[in-house]
Amino acid sequence: MRILYVISEADPFIKTGGLGEVGGSFPLALNKSGIEVRVIIPKYSQITPELTEKAAFLTSFEVPLGWRRQYCGLQELVYQDVHYYLIDNEYYFKRSHVYGEYDDAERFSFFCRAVLESICRFSDYKPDIIHCNDWHTALIPVMLKEFYFSDPLFFNMRTLLTIHNLKYQGIYPWQVYFDVLGLPEGGMCYQRFSFKDVINFLKAGILYADRITTVSPTYAGEILYPYYGEQMESVLAGKKDLLTGILNGIDYGKYNPRKDSYIYAQYGSYAQKLNNKLGLQEDLGLPVRPEAPLFGVISRLVPQKGFDLLLHVMPQIMEMDVQLVILGDGEAQYENSFQYYTRLNPDKIAFMDYYDEVMAHKIYAAADMVLMPSRFEPCGLTQMIAMRYGAIPIARETGGLKDSVIPYNQFTGTGNGFSFANYNAHELLDTIQRAVGVFHEQNDRWETLVNNAMHSDFSWERSAKQYTALYATLLEQLS
Ligand code: ADP
Repeated sequence: MRILYVISEADPFIKTGGLGEVGGSFPLALNKSGIEVRVIIPKYSQITPELTEKAAFLTSFEVPLGWRRQYCGLQELVYQDVHYYLIDNEYYFKRSHVYGEYDDAERFSFFCRAVLESICRFSDYKPDIIHCNDWHTALIPVMLKEFYFSDPLFFNMRTLLTIHNLKYQGIYPWQVYFDVLGLPEGGMCYQRFSFKDVINFLKAGILYADRITTVSPTYAGEILYPYYGEQMESVLAGKKDLLTGILNGIDYGKYNPRKDSYIYAQYGSYAQKLNNKLGLQEDLGLPVRPEAPLFGVISRLVPQKGFDLLLHVMPQIMEMDVQLVILGDGEAQYENSFQYYTRLNPDKIAFMDYYDEVMAHKIYAAADMVLMPSRFEPCGLTQMIAMRYGAIPIARETGGLKDSVIPYNQFTGTGNGFSFANYNAHELLDTIQRAVGVFHEQNDRWETLVNNAMHSDFSWERSAKQYTALYATLLEQLS
């Protein structure tokens, strides 16, 4: 079974959030499980030269894009036993940002077409399935059926589209459809792109792909309804039979408190974890107090993550004997609010308005709890990483949070976190207070909870198995 995994980011090459994390770790797991997977990503200028220097030039060609033809260099390298292809075009990918450029529609249209043109040039590898991810690659199933339908190379090639976050859809004016993509007016293709007065890359991808997955079973159900559907609920409901939710995993090699060189003290049990808390408190200028519950927030600062709830009850939280360490960048409204509360409570809050991988690991290792009051959360990796480090998630019951955080039951001692159902600030506050109550109890309940969390299994093997089964069903349909 040969899978070409197409994604716009893959750690350690490039990562702006959870997508890059998955792009880095899922192919490794698939490869280990015996699937012949190859990954193809854009060669962004942000990729560290040490990685790209090892890439070998394979070939170059021109990619048709509407009425133009654009240069494409194809490079190849092997990293941790996985084959990577890099799509090279400095005009499109030597930019100051990975996303958010004025011509993202054209940049990722180019990427999609360049992937299909690359397949035509692979000498030793013909994928059975092209596994696409999010709107950046959603045009591949479209282009495959619109531009390559008569090419025998592609006759039996199947497409799978994974939705990591329905919020981001690739919505652009019709001009992109005609000028950049060179697609015809009217007919089925036109209908499939049409989204109110504009076009929608993800919608077209969903309607053209042979199968669709999303990153947790709960999110797969949620997106069929308006609250989570981002105006795509009816499109998705129409494809319900082809849609599956498979929970992501995390790389247990990378996130391993026993071996992590970024943290203050490596550990395998709750007792040894404490040194990390003391180290971080000291480094960040917070009072070094093991008895104060330490909350971590490691996140993009965007509305999705539920910071409105947190900010709403911040005055009450600050009345408690707790510490809060926040790492992340994003929207100014949240950065400003966190800065404001930090100035008011310098001995309780440390806020770093940027993202830093080493600091993220230090916080996971130091924190007693991590806050994830998300409005929606397709999968969420942060809670899984946190649990691996014995930091207890306080999460809203949505999407992948619901599928991974099992509420603590004080009578049976089961569970690995705390959760609340409604998007309501006082439910969050109540849950925080409940967690702090358990933390302060003079018995080993907290330790049991931490051990439960550290022993929860979020490795990729389980998801890789489910994907392997899904790939097999896709191919069975051919025979
Ligand atoms: P999302 O993909 O919505 O950002 P996830 O919980 O699925 O959230 O994935 C978070 C991953 O991204 C973790 O590996 C986390 O360490 C990392 N991360 C969190 N915040 C940022 C940020 N501001 N920039 C880059 N990576 C981040």
